Amino acid sequence: MARNRVQFQKGLSMAEFIKLYGIEERCHAALVQMRWPDGFVCPDCGGVEHSYSRDRQIFQCSACRVQTSAKAGTIFHKSKTPLTKWFLAMHLLTSAKNDISGLELARQLDVKWDTAWLIKQKLMEAMRQRNSIYKLDSDVQIDDAYLGGEQPVKPGKAGRGAANKIPFVVAVATRDGKPTYTQLRRVAGFTKEAIRDYAVANIKRGSYVFSDGLSCFLGLVDAGMRHVPVLTGGGRPKSTIFKWVNTGLGNIKSAITGTCRSFDGQHADRYLAAYEWRFNRRFDLRKNVERLARSALATLPQPRRSIALVRTRAEMTG
Ligand SMILES: [Zn+2]
Repeated sequence: MARNRVQFQKGLSMAEFIKLYGIEERCHAALVQMRWPDGFVCPDCGGVEHSYSRDRQIFQCSACRVQTSAKAGTIFHKSKTPLTKWFLAMHLLTSAKNDISGLELARQLDVKWDTAWLIKQKLMEAMRQRNSIYKLDSDVQIDDAYLGGEQPVKPGKAGRGAANKIPFVVAVATRDGKPTYTQLRRVAGFTKEAIRDYAVANIKRGSYVFSDGLSCFLGLVDAGMRHVPVLTGGGRPKSTIFKWVNTGLGNIKSAITGTCRSFDGQHADRYLAAYEWRFNRRFDLRKNVERLARSALATLPQPRRSIALVRTRAEMTG
């Protein structure tokens, strides 16, 4: 799809969203359909004979008597928030041009701030886990960046290694000069070893990877990549090779700092993941609620303690 068609495509309107997911029964039916597309299958014994309690939304296996629900064992597990609010959160989080803050989400869902914040973190965790199964391939442009402090910084020579900032790698796979998929992944640091470990986990072996030649990117060779350092005379390369990487950085900056202002560093992976998830699913926006719901169903329960809720002033706006 051409770039302008990506930008101007018609997403899922609020009217259509309400028609599809505006009542609790429809949301529940959608989850049941996604979880058991060919009909109920017992998670314990694989049996298909069952009875169903409509009031409690509980399935009981006729063979082993185990009771389960569409939400059990997923991020919706034991949630007291109605599914209509979960689905609205998925719609808002996936259709936001940049991001939606916890405070704005709380207003739109009509829930308390910490409920909205936790829903958002859980959904972003589902995005993070989904992202992690893909590897980039073909031609990959890679660059180093930092998140944290006042805003994400594209470090100049002096800024590299800055304290109190979260190092991450922005990578963009391109085909015929156009970006296909991106990755925003936190790294332990900009060392050869950290970049090697990052590349092994996230890029297919043998890919061509273009960097600006910063010494840590020598780790790409150790990871089995064909590393192409693109050197320019002094300063950062301005060639079109880094056009998409830099465009991506600009968008992250507006996504995270524009809406959320700042956030606790321990949640950085999830904020990066949300941006990555949206960018990689920009071609068919109408399917994104369903896509995120499927990812949420595939994600194990995320109790509050695993999200590590720490109430700091910085997070109040995130
Ligand atoms: Zn069973």
